Formats: sequence, structure tokens, C-alpha cells
Amino acid sequence: MIVQYQKIKNEHPDKLILFRMGDFYETFFEDAYTASKILNITLTSRDKSDEHPVPLAGFPYHALDNYLDKLIKAGIKVAICEQMEDPKQAKGLVKREVVEIITPGTVLDHNLLGGTANNFLSAIYYEDENRKIGLASLDLSTGEFIFTELSKNELANELLKLKPSEIIVNGSDSEAFIKNLNLEYEPTITIFDNWQFRPSEAANVLKKHFQVHSLEAFGALGKNMGVTAAGAALAYIQSLTSDPLSHISSLRFYSLDNFMLLDEITRRNLELTHSLRYNDRHGSLLYVLDQTQTPMGSRLLQNWLLHPLLDKEQIIKRQDLIKAFLNNTAYLKDVRTILHNIGDISRLVSKLGALRINPRELLALNSYLLTVADLKKKLIAFNHPLLDNFIPALEGFEEIIEIISKAIRPQPPITITEGGIFNQGYNPDLDELLEIIHDGKSWIARLEEDERNKTGISNLKVGYNKVFGYYIEVTSSQKSKVPDYYIPKQTLVNSERYISPRLKEFEAKVLSSEEKVKNLEYELFKQLRQQLAGYLDKLQSLSETIALIDVQSCLAWLAWQNGYCCPEFTEQRTLKIVEGRHPVIEKLLTDTDFIPNDTELDYPQTTIAIITGPNMAGKSTYLRQVGLLVIMAQMGSFVPAKQLQMPIFDRVFTRVGASDNLAQGQSTFLVEMIETANILNTATPDSLILLDEIGRGTSTFDGLSLAWAIIEYIEKYKHSLTLFATHYHELTELESIYPDIRNYNIAVREYNEQIIFLRKIERGGADQSYGIQVARLAGIPERVIRRAKEILKNLEEHEISPQGLASSLRKKLQETSPQMELFEVLAEKADELDHIINEIKDLDLDSLTPIQAWQKLKELQDKL
Ligand code: ADP
Repeated sequence: MIVQYQKIKNEHPDKLILFRMGDFYETFFEDAYTASKILNITLTSRDKSDEHPVPLAGFPYHALDNYLDKLIKAGIKVAICEQMEDPKQAKGLVKREVVEIITPGTVLDHNLLGGTANNFLSAIYYEDENRKIGLASLDLSTGEFIFTELSKNELANELLKLKPSEIIVNGSDSEAFIKNLNLEYEPTITIFDNWQFRPSEAANVLKKHFQVHSLEAFGALGKNMGVTAAGAALAYIQSLTSDPLSHISSLRFYSLDNFMLLDEITRRNLELTHSLRYNDRHGSLLYVLDQTQTPMGSRLLQNWLLHPLLDKEQIIKRQDLIKAFLNNTAYLKDVRTILHNIGDISRLVSKLGALRINPRELLALNSYLLTVADLKKKLIAFNHPLLDNFIPALEGFEEIIEIISKAIRPQPPITITEGGIFNQGYNPDLDELLEIIHDGKSWIARLEEDERNKTGISNLKVGYNKVFGYYIEVTSSQKSKVPDYYIPKQTLVNSERYISPRLKEFEAKVLSSEEKVKNLEYELFKQLRQQLAGYLDKLQSLSETIALIDVQSCLAWLAWQNGYCCPEFTEQRTLKIVEGRHPVIEKLLTDTDFIPNDTELDYPQTTIAIITGPNMAGKSTYLRQVGLLVIMAQMGSFVPAKQLQMPIFDRVFTRVGASDNLAQGQSTFLVEMIETANILNTATPDSLILLDEIGRGTSTFDGLSLAWAIIEYIEKYKHSLTLFATHYHELTELESIYPDIRNYNIAVREYNEQIIFLRKIERGGADQSYGIQVARLAGIPERVIRRAKEILKNLEEHEISPQGLASSLRKKLQETSPQMELFEVLAEKADELDHIINEIKDLDLDSLTPIQAWQKLKELQDKL
């Protein structure tokens, strides 16, 4: 058996082999170590006494889903090796074969995927990494297949957006290339046959799969790198499975040029899909916006959020659909209730395409299709031409519904080999066999009755078990009454089991019928699946339409529930927000109301707004609010404001000064500067730049000077609309130097030495920093607060020179109040040290005798 195992392992050296042995899946050798570690199962061996025992770890076959899930999540590729014949009938060693290979990027089963997010497998191909790189991504569970071409810089960003769980490449060079991108997560990287990455070979794979002569229809003209990546991705999946991949029915080219550029840092800082604090969906923009009702809708909404549009017409089309739904909010509510009853059609359709759908899933699909009829009725009721456009895709499912309803029994099994799938009346042969089995049950009852009468054993029973088949059971006390045509089979503690010729004859008939039923149902189900697969295209377009209806009605619902307004787009570079709100914070605040604020940036009058205010005033919230509103507007959504007028922005950049990112271990000032450099190099006049406390990560004077220079640079060379939040008051000076820089502050008032945050933005710089008041709010002991105020007063009376805070502090401390003993003592000690050092320097070693040297050392030591 180990020889058989080794042979299989040699064919799949990079995979963990789950080797079926009876009721268990076993792993051996290296695999056993890996499995026991990841799955937390016992590592053992069969032949413990042997000199070289074979390491072994296994689990019961029915726990497969659970364990597979863990292995895949750990990035392991798994080959499932099954017994291909019944061990009872096998002569010698049972035949075994790998029947399925599952890798992180090729999981199809719903149970293993969990959640609603896409699970992409990506392939990457390039000839010169400094030129165009082809990237193709395929979600086997939904059939989505997309490709693009991009630069090395764009690649990392795009991968972080798609988060493929597996990336395939053509060799170790490209593997290293991906690793060097330093993605913030660890996808499984798979090296796939180099020849599959030959452009002509890859194109052929695609042509053959889609049965086309040319790939032009997919937007592939001149996109050699992208097409090659796509062909290799498909070939990889084909190499793992023998499933027909008919649900992968199209390939779509997309260009990054069609979307607003949002780099990973901006996405993170704006907390689009993950909040910084919890690092999950909770508290992110997606958390507020994703009120979709179906998994398809949820995936599409996330896609829209990460890809705000650049084309005004496309945006307005989305806005118009929101308006259409808002025409009748009662119906809108109904639409959402109906959608709620529709599950993941997309994944079911994919399983149908792969001919892997099971009876229970077919029934689920059927119930969704029945719901679609309600959805259609409701949309018609709106009586709106834009919503009428959805109708054709929702029609024409009567046939499928009838086929499934007629075929599948209520509450069918998940397995298709055990029978119990079909309704009575579906197939005459099946009905006949079921009849025999059914009759058999009453036959047994009759036989039991007969035998009791004949033998006089009143508690005689007919039973069944897998080993002996049907038997007659008699308690031991009645054993003497047993007739001689009973053949003894088994002795139990309190009873005896027998068979009789009549019983065996009957058994053969029933068992063979049961076997026939199983086989027949299995065949019938395969036929049914094949028949339904003929509707794949229609089902796929249904799934896409439902996703769209779901997202659009969700955006309408949000607009209505939260009082959002419809953004207007202007040709001028004017950003005007009236009473804007932060979409997430306004939801999270529980004991206070969110205070709305206006924003006005207008090239060339106000290109840059400098926003000052103490910590906690609301600067970051304000900055992020502006960014979020712009992104929501370009994704086609309404926004939390009274009014929003804006140009189409090509990019939104957000950077936050280093110390705010401490939680992520990104505290270095270098990171902050690299990020800022990236903005200064790539922003255009059509970009929106949001800088929050840039320069904070270094000493005050360095930071202040850098912040100053960065603002000047944007003003002179970039002209991008910019919001710059800072606690450096000195920056407010810039307003008097540049005509298009304006100061704003977030108002606070002092009352009885307490600070009150008004959360209102107003013209002009903040008059003081209130840091000490904020410290008091935070619970710093009153003594410290008093002392800090004293020091502040001293500092304010003596202007600090930019030569360095330390030296000026020292100077001031020497001049000022006698309370500052600690600093004085320190200063004195520093002088004494200087003295000792000088003494050592001045020693003339050549003129010292050893004994004098010793004395000198002793003297110095005493002083220390
Ligand atoms: P800063 O960046 O100035 O230190 P933040 O933007 O982090 O301040 O805001 C501090 C807190 O103030 C936020 O967590 C939020 O709860 C609250 N806040 C900010 N802006 C508003 C507002 N407009 N209305 C109500 N609460 C706000």
C-alpha cells in the first residue's frame, strides 16, 4: 500500500494527499506532520515497533469538509485520493485514484468558501517586468473571469484589491517578483508549467474553451500579456479538475483607466472595507453601505465601492436608477423583502455548470426562481421605464421550475448515490422498483406474523443489519422452539439470530431492487443536471441582473433611510459640500448627534485649505468625510449631505501622519514620507489630496518645515484640491503668502477651564492648541496639568528659536523660576561630567609612572 501511496504522491509532490482507507482519510510522512500541526490531530504510526515507522495522521471521512476548510485556509493544496472499488470485492490491494484537487484558488464548494466575498485565483505573466504585466483573475465559484494589463506599481495595488487566495506564475523568477511586492497578506503562490504561459498556447486554451476563432470579442486585441495570463489561469484549473467548466462563459477585459485610482493606503485610511480599529468590516464604509440582500449584490457593491467611476454618464445612469426606486418607497421596501429570499444563485449556477450541484441545492435554486416571479411583478408595479429594462432577464424560468419541481422530492439528500432524490411519477422504472421495496416492507411484517404463529415464539422479530442482511431474532429463552429449517448465524448475549431460505430469497429480491434504485436515481440525476445545464447562460444573466437590482435598490434604500442627496457634477474644479456628514461616524455615535459641516474648495480661489484645531476637535473626521463623500458620489451613490457639487476626481489620496498608525506597526517616519512622496509625484490637478498631520512623525521643527514645504509644492506645481489638517499653528502663516490657501479651524470654546468641542468648521486659524485641556479630559492627574500650564506659560514668554527645542529649553530653564530644580541639577551634573572628560583628554600618558596613573584613575573613580 505504501508503494501505491508513493506512486500517487510522486504524481502530486506539491500537494497534501488525503488517502482514503476505509472510513478514514490518512496522511503519511511529511504530509502527516503538516496535517497534524494544522488540523491539530494526533501524529502516530501503524508500525510502531518497526525501525523506521511510517508517520501517520488521519481523520474520519465524514469530517472532510471541516478539515479541508482548515487546510485550504492555511494555503495548502490538497489532493483527495479515494478507493475506486469496494474493498470486499477487490482482489488484492484496493485501487485508489486522486479524484479531486483543491487549492486555495480553486475551491468550488460553498461550505468551504463561507461569506459572500469573491475567491479569486490570479495568474500573472510578463516578458519585461518594467513594461506591461498581464493579470487575469478567475472566481471559480461564481464564474467571474476578468483580465487586465498594468504596470508593476499598479500591480500590488490591484492584487490588494482583489486579494486572490492563490497566484500562479511561470517560474521562480516571477515567484520572487510577487514576493518582492510585499503584499500585506500571504497568497499561495503556485508555479505552473512554463509552456502553458506561451502566448500562442494560452490563447488556444481560451479559444477552445469559449469555442471561438478569435478572442477579439473579449477585448483582447493587442493584450498579449493579459491574454496569456488568462489562458494560463484557465489551463491551471483544467489541469486540476475534469469538471466541465461551462459556467466560465465569458472573459472580460477591464482597464484601470476607467476607474478612480485609490491606492491601498488611501483605501485603508478611509476605512473603505476594513476599519483601522477593528481591522474588520465593522466600522468601515462598507459596513454602512452594504445593506444588500443577496450574496451577489454584496459582491457587486464591494466591487463598485473599490472602483469609483470616471465616466459621468455611467455615474448618472446609476443615480437615475436610484431615483427610479425612490419613486415608490413602499414598493422599494417590498423589493428588498423579496430579494432577501433569494440566495447565492451565482454559486449554485457555477456548481450546475461544473455538474456538481446536488439535489438539495437544485431545490434551493428552484425556490429562488419562484421568488424571481414575485420580484418581476413588483418591478412592473413601479411602472418606470428604467426598471422595466430589468424585466426580460427575470422572465422565462417556468420550464426550469417545472422540471425541478416535478423531479425532486421535498427534503432530498445531499448525496446522489443513495437514492431518495426523485418524486413518485418522475420515472416509471423507478416507480416500479420502489413499489417492490415498499411491498417488501409489508411482506416482512407478514413473514414475521407467520413465523410467530408457526413457532409459537411471540417475541420473534425480523431485523436487518449490514453484515448479515435480513435475519430472524429469537431470545435465548425461546431457543428450544426454533424449527430445524432455521440456520443459525450469530449468538448475542440474550438472543440468537437465524436465517431461513425464504427470507434469503426475499432478501435477494429487495436488496437488488434497492441497489437498482440507487443506480437508477444516480443516472437520472446526472441526466437531469445535464439537461438543466442547458439553461446556464440564462441563469447567469439572471444572477447578474439580480445583483444589479439588489445594489441599486440598496443604494436607494440608504438614500431614503439616511437622508442622502444626489451629487451634481460640474466641469469646474469646484468642490462644494453643504452640511456634509461622515457616513460611518454618524451611525456609530450613540449619545451625541453628528454635527454636519460645509466644505468649499474652488480652484483657483481656494486650492488648499489648512485646518487647525486641537486634538480631538474632529479634523480627521472632517477630512475623511470629504474623501468618503467624493468616493460615494463617483461610485454612483447618493451622499450624506444637503448638497454636493464636485468635479470628477481622477484620484483621491489620503495620508495620515505616522503616529496615528502606531497600531499597525507602521510608525516610522520613513513610511510617512514614502507615502507622501508618492502623492507629490503622482497627483494631478484633477486629484483630491487629504493630508492629516503630515510631518508629525519627526521633531517639531523638522516636521513643521516639511509640512510647510509640502504645501508650497502642491500650491506651486500640483494645483490639486487639498485639505491639510495640522496642529502646527505656524502653518496658518501660509494664507498671507499664497492667495489660494485658506485657513479653517474646527471650533472649540473654553468654559471654566474646560474645553468644549463644537465640531463646527469655521474660517481662520485656531487661536491656541488646548492640548493641556485635552490632557485633562483624558484623566491626566491635576498636578501634572498645573505643572504643564506653568511650563507652557514660561515657554510662551520666551519665543523658541528653531535651533532646536532642547537647547532653547535649557536656556529658558536657566533663566526662569527656581522651582525647576530637577533641570538645574541635571545641568550642573552635565558640567561636572564635561570636566572629567576634559581631564582625561588632557592627560600626558608618556610622563606618568604606573603608580601615578593608578592614583589618577582612583581619583577619577572617586569623583564619579
Ligand atoms: P482630530 O483629528 O482633530 O484629533 P477626530 O477627527 O479624531 O479629531 O475626532 C475625534 C472624535 O470627535 C471622533 O471620534 C468623533 O467621535 C467626534 N467627532 C468628530 N467630528 C464630529 C462631528 N462633526 N460631530 C460629532 N462628533 C464628531
